[in-house]
Amino acid sequence: MSNLENMADLAIIGGGPAGFTAAIYGCRAGLSVAVFSPQVPGSQLVKTNDIENFPGFPEGISGYELLDKMQQQAEKFGAAIYDESVISLKLLPDNSGQFTLKTETGREFAARSVIAAMGAAHRSLGLPSEKKFFGKGVSACAVCDGFFFRNKDVAVIGGGDTALGDAIYLSQFASKVYLIHRREEFRAADSIVKKVRQNDKICLVLNSVVQEIKGDKSVEAIAVKNVRTGEISDISVSGAFVAVGQQPASELLSGFAELSPSGTVEADSRCRTSVPGLFAAGDVADPLYRQAVIAAASGAKAALEAYKFIKER
Ligand code: NAP
Repeated sequence: MSNLENMADLAIIGGGPAGFTAAIYGCRAGLSVAVFSPQVPGSQLVKTNDIENFPGFPEGISGYELLDKMQQQAEKFGAAIYDESVISLKLLPDNSGQFTLKTETGREFAARSVIAAMGAAHRSLGLPSEKKFFGKGVSACAVCDGFFFRNKDVAVIGGGDTALGDAIYLSQFASKVYLIHRREEFRAADSIVKKVRQNDKICLVLNSVVQEIKGDKSVEAIAVKNVRTGEISDISVSGAFVAVGQQPASELLSGFAELSPSGTVEADSRCRTSVPGLFAAGDVADPLYRQAVIAAASGAKAALEAYKFIKER
């Protein structure tokens, strides 16, 4: 183990609400805790402008601020935060049941227990033109890129909380926001649907799917097909924000722990995975709710279980 840089009781992979809550609970239980939290792409929460349903913030709070407060709290209790991605996770070959983690910079760490809290990454439409213009008018983060579209027309694709939240956020900068959704009904919460319907800058393009994102060097238009009439038309926009859901960021565990067909980490109600000592928390293991408060709660559960695992070993 001489080449291993550091032995932590608990290594937490991911710096979202699940990861930082697990760190707070782990540290307070007396464990040495290392959190691996790369700044880019960062937690999905960072990309959420206005969170109105996290208890304790009656006026709402930005995802960035909420996460920053969680990180500060974890650091206050002694968590070591590493701004690095973990690229491999294995069991040590000495049959000790301990883990070894390698990061993108080649550093190796050892841990008695691990919490997988990698969250979820944005899903794409799967169009070649979406890939071509990614970063040149196509974005998956309204909070990061919205500012660049001041006084321009943009489109948001999707019908969930993220898409509708993005449309409202972008309406502060853009001259017009086309909200393109494949159905008549929205998946988003009624409260946010109401706000969208009351927003004069948001134009609903329902029952429509994106066929192509058009342009020369940057986005100039979106070709949409009305799924009811079959009619195809171009909408002139300078930006397209894709918000069609997320997929669990579980690739690191592929072949190591059991995953569901949809890619979530299989974990029981005590956050235990198929590998003893490896726990999973937050969106990476949640096929259903994907809420910050639920991720935070599962992070707390995972840390308490990791503590128990280490003490009983
Ligand atoms: P989501 O709820 O899964 O919604 C994805 C949307 O994209 C759906 O409307 C879906 O259409 C559409 N879609 C999926 N694939 C598509 C495709 N290939 N082409 C066109 N449209 C497609 O995802 P989300 O909005 O990112 O939300 C994820 C979770 O985070 C949810 O649980 C949500 O409640 C939560 N969240 C909460 C907040 C908040 O509380 N402040 C903010 C953001 C997200 P269909 O409806 O037809 O399936």
